[in-house]
Amino acid sequence: MSQSFKNFINGKWVESKSGQTFENRNPANWNELIGLFPKSSKEDVDDAVKAARKAFEKWRLVPAPARGDVMRKLGDLLVKRKEEIARAMTREMGKVLAETRGDVQEGIDTAYYAAGEGRRLFGKTVPSELPNKFAMAIRVPIGVAGIITPWNFPMAIPTWKMFPAILSGNTVIFKPAQDTPNTARMLVETMAESGLPDGVVNIVFGTGGEVGRAIVTHPDVDLISFTGSTLVGKQISKDASDTLKRVSLELGGKNAQIVMDDADLDLALEGVLWGAFGTTGQRCTATSRLILHDKVYDKFLSMLVDRTKKLRLGDGLLATTDVGPVVNEAQRKNVQQYVEIGKSEGATLVAGGNIVSANGTLGGWFHEPTIFADVTPEMRVAKEEIFGPVLSVLRATSLEDAVTKLNNTVYGLSSSVYTRDVNKAFEAIRDIQAGITYINAATIGAEAHLPFGGVKQTGNGHREGGWTVYDFFTEWKAVYVDYSGKLQRAQIDNY
Ligand code: NAD
Repeated sequence: MSQSFKNFINGKWVESKSGQTFENRNPANWNELIGLFPKSSKEDVDDAVKAARKAFEKWRLVPAPARGDVMRKLGDLLVKRKEEIARAMTREMGKVLAETRGDVQEGIDTAYYAAGEGRRLFGKTVPSELPNKFAMAIRVPIGVAGIITPWNFPMAIPTWKMFPAILSGNTVIFKPAQDTPNTARMLVETMAESGLPDGVVNIVFGTGGEVGRAIVTHPDVDLISFTGSTLVGKQISKDASDTLKRVSLELGGKNAQIVMDDADLDLALEGVLWGAFGTTGQRCTATSRLILHDKVYDKFLSMLVDRTKKLRLGDGLLATTDVGPVVNEAQRKNVQQYVEIGKSEGATLVAGGNIVSANGTLGGWFHEPTIFADVTPEMRVAKEEIFGPVLSVLRATSLEDAVTKLNNTVYGLSSSVYTRDVNKAFEAIRDIQAGITYINAATIGAEAHLPFGGVKQTGNGHREGGWTVYDFFTEWKAVYVDYSGKLQRAQIDNY
């Protein structure tokens, strides 16, 4: 008998109204069933929204430092459960244990940051133009937040959204990706243990089309924080427009690493291996293009191919594994399709390209780390997000040429430049169109206390992380206190 799990609404674990379920399986061994989760419907979302709305009326009045105390406790509880959650995460989505531990750590960092923010959440005081009048702007909570997340960072991404939302005085309804319900369940369980009042956090499992859409279109949900594909992000933006919700979208990427002719090639090699094949290439910040200066192209490519062929595929729970499986069959088919597209476009396959068995079994969704050389900017493998272990290598003749090629995409999330020339580094920082630029470091590795997000079709201008996410989860209220005892007229009395 497989284990069955429930939704969490108004402080209780409850069955979905439909009674239907969906399966959660291990991508490294598809025969292994992890559990059954509720396939919920609009009715379950209605219940969660009611609970969250009711809880908001009390939670918004709890002083922010006291909300911060709950966040600190939550951080402590997550520290205790770090290893347990990391193992469960590897089991349900495949990335190696070192990375799932990092994913949980990002949640812990975000909890402690939120705890500190409880004693800041700064407003501003500004001078009034009139005498005996005091002016200030304060942050106020907004209401009920819908949180919709992907599977590739099952802990980090939901915590980036929910912890600042709750610290700011909002309540939340969380709809995790269908591939990673178990990590989400453990996160919400820990949040409940931390002392959050009933209804402040609610989780409703199910599909995007049904549960996700019901949250986005619900008239009593005030804001949506979404991370996922650009296609779904655009749909959410349209669906949310009828109720004029505030929407934050963190979407796809086609990130590139530039290696200049003066770069430390060994360092750049470690960077691209980590950036392209970490999380099996399934990061929004993954390095999916490598732009090599002409003068180092042949040498660097041969170093890269050599090391890539040595990467060991396998179950992410084993210490011998460098690269885990992709998350599911559809995702592996997508990767395969792009391998065929690359070949038909005339790119040269120099490493990988195949589906493989790992651990002597075909039971998991494994695909070889793959490299295409001789890629030109107009090819689809140079422009479209693949979200798998496929790297496209392009050639550039100068920094300007390299940056033009890097910018040649509808996305703009992360970017990286390897050079020892400080002038070139700063020119790149100035000209690259992306929300994140690394110098002499890989395209992946964002830290929880800095702004995170992208330009162009990677998002709609909001930022997660650090202090910036609090701008999304709070409303500014301007307050004037007139203690003159008479009518004072702005713009008129003084001029
Ligand atoms: P996805 O867009 O398919 O799904 C994301 C979430 O949206 C899931 O929970 C899904 O159930 C839900 N959803 C689907 N359709 C919906 C609808 N019509 N209304 C409401 N919700 C709906 O993405 P995915 O496959 O889970 O994740 C991969 C994508 O996420 C990639 O494109 C990747 O670049 C992107 N991503 C972006 C960031 C970032 O911060 N920019 C981070 C991680 C992943």
